[in-house]
Amino acid sequence: MRLLMIAPPGAGKGTQAARVGRQYDLDHIASGDLLREAVRAGTELGRKVKRYLDQGELVSDDLVLAIVSDRLKRAKPGGFILDGFPRTVEQARAADRLFAESGEPVDAVIYLDVDREESVRRLLARASEEGRSDDQESTIRHRLDVFETMTKPLLQYYADRGLVMAIDGEQPIDTVTEEILNRLAAKRSKR
Ligand code: AMP
Repeated sequence: MRLLMIAPPGAGKGTQAARVGRQYDLDHIASGDLLREAVRAGTELGRKVKRYLDQGELVSDDLVLAIVSDRLKRAKPGGFILDGFPRTVEQARAADRLFAESGEPVDAVIYLDVDREESVRRLLARASEEGRSDDQESTIRHRLDVFETMTKPLLQYYADRGLVMAIDGEQPIDTVTEEILNRLAAKRSKR
């Protein structure tokens, strides 16, 4: 199974992607984690992307594509859940080409819907726990704007193909997981 997870910052996409990945034995590939690892490792790529991450800007499509496609080459055979990629229509087109090459199209796009102010509240709470460099209020608000303008249009891109599974991400964490798993199971049984 090949899944994509699209959600605004603070919607819990990392947590939910990890849980769904475990349930179906999928490789959980988070573009944000890959980028933060590169920054921590101090690689050339890490140096290039650090200021984008710190400022809540999107990293350029070509850099993200390079890092994600490289990681996909080493993906587990059972499939994957991509968390945080694609984030622009350009990335989605590139992802289509990548998946077409391997003959493995996407099965579903999970969208976690969370209200803007709820996202801000959650991210401020996370900031005090984890201290991520992009979790200050002004950066958080900017990341949410970036999501609205650059990433949300992807929902239409995938809805046109009937792939979007919209979930109310403001429900309790376990309820969100349960709803995703139930809807994936229903989709699989229809095939
Ligand atoms: P995340 O961990 O998904 O919240 O991503 C953290 C940050 O990494 C984002 O604010 C962007 O700076 C960068 N990032 C992650 N995924 C992408 C992507 N697909 N395209 C561009 N930038 C990304």
